[in-house]
Amino acid sequence: MKRFRAAIEALSAYTPGEQPALGTRVIKLNTNENPYPPSPNVIEALRKIGGEELRRYPHPFAEEFRQSASEILRVEPSWILVGNGSDDLLTMLMRAVAGPGRTVAYPVPTYVLYRTLAAIQEAPVVEVPFDERYELPVSALADADPALTLVANPNSPSGTCASTDRLTDLAVRLKGILVIDEAYVEFADANALELVRKFDNVVVLRTLSKSHSLAGLRLGFGIANPALIHELTKVKDSYNVDAVAAHVGAWAVRDTAHTLANVSRIRESRTKLTNQLTSLGFRVWPSQANFVLVRPSEGNARDLYEALKQRGILVRYFNEIGLKDKLRISIGTDEENTVLMNTLKELVI
Ligand SMILES: *Cc1c(COP(=O)(O)O)cnc(C)c1O
Repeated sequence: MKRFRAAIEALSAYTPGEQPALGTRVIKLNTNENPYPPSPNVIEALRKIGGEELRRYPHPFAEEFRQSASEILRVEPSWILVGNGSDDLLTMLMRAVAGPGRTVAYPVPTYVLYRTLAAIQEAPVVEVPFDERYELPVSALADADPALTLVANPNSPSGTCASTDRLTDLAVRLKGILVIDEAYVEFADANALELVRKFDNVVVLRTLSKSHSLAGLRLGFGIANPALIHELTKVKDSYNVDAVAAHVGAWAVRDTAHTLANVSRIRESRTKLTNQLTSLGFRVWPSQANFVLVRPSEGNARDLYEALKQRGILVRYFNEIGLKDKLRISIGTDEENTVLMNTLKELVI
């Protein structure tokens, strides 16, 4: 007998973006982290955590965080399920919904973890290619009649957004569950939260990793009707959110002023960077996220990635269909963006 399931042996392990050791002098624009620090309230709350909070098991539903998120979003707590990052919610959704004979569908290119999680479930996968403008392929997705449909909105790595009307159209046509992964939604002009009220098959996912500068904390959540949430709780790890994350995360979501200030700084930098890159001859897709997808006017995207890396600037290159000629660049601080632009000017001329 083989030691591992064939589905696991066939799987190539998910390759996250490079994470150089803390303190390494690099400009890190490769994993869409927020370039600004989290709220000072978060740091203070973290300092105050004592042995007693750590000695005991955490609340199984991260109640403190759930209450705070509920107040901020004006959604009842029973509509919220908290996870160890939104990746944890994706895992629960896959476990509960996808499997042999139960298809998973999503447009591509998108978040690579969807493919990995579906493969672990041994679920058939339908990957529908986006067109060059990254319009959501509603009909092709619906026609696959999937048990689980995933739409990252804004999408990564394109940064593009489907309108709420188009998502509504998709929700109406699907019999299975529709996940709208809003990991970057705070940087966008609109969100689709209202769809969880209108459709009992829609789940919206949010995370503190990008907009709240807390990728290291690991906190995300799903919003859906209580009946759907109830099924997901059956497959979650008993104590999936640790006490530190639940407490500190509550302080983070409550500091909406801090989040909004950082988000607007990043949106301004995004406009500026988009214009500068366009002037330099790059094609830049219109981004609603904290990164931009770009195509160099000439030359090879991978060579440019390597050349930037040699000069201490990390961006993301995906060796994937539709992406081999492109780079994804996270929005940094103004200083970081300036160094990036100066370096690119030397490299592409
Ligand atoms: C970053 C990201 C996530 C993961 O978020 P975590 O909360 O850090 O697990 C999920 N979906 C997309 C599309 C992302 O880019």
